Amino acid sequence: MKHTCPHCGEKTISPFKKAMAGNPQSRGIVCPNCGKRSTNELKSAVFHAILSAIALVFIIYQYVAVESIESNYYSILAILIALVVPRIVDAFFFKLVPAIRLDYR
Ligand SMILES: [Zn+2]
Repeated sequence: MKHTCPHCGEKTISPFKKAMAGNPQSRGIVCPNCGKRSTNELKSAVFHAILSAIALVFIIYQYVAVESIESNYYSILAILIALVVPRIVDAFFFKLVPAIRLDYR
């Protein structure tokens, strides 16, 4: 299942490439058909931000309230989840939009 390029409308973007497309502030990925850049839509960035906030709260909670050896592992796990999960979600959900930034052309 490939994603549709917002420029030419062709299904050219693989889930892996879309996972690397980043948020609207990022450089995005190039469509192999039309050569134009696109990124994940703003909803993706919002989702990343929410997940990062949850992970941060969880880490602070572990640090302040739990104080065990295991809590360090849970914190590392929370960081990994906050880094990896949004990429996986990006790969399959959210739409691609034309890249806003033009300075990378
Ligand atoms: Zn295209």
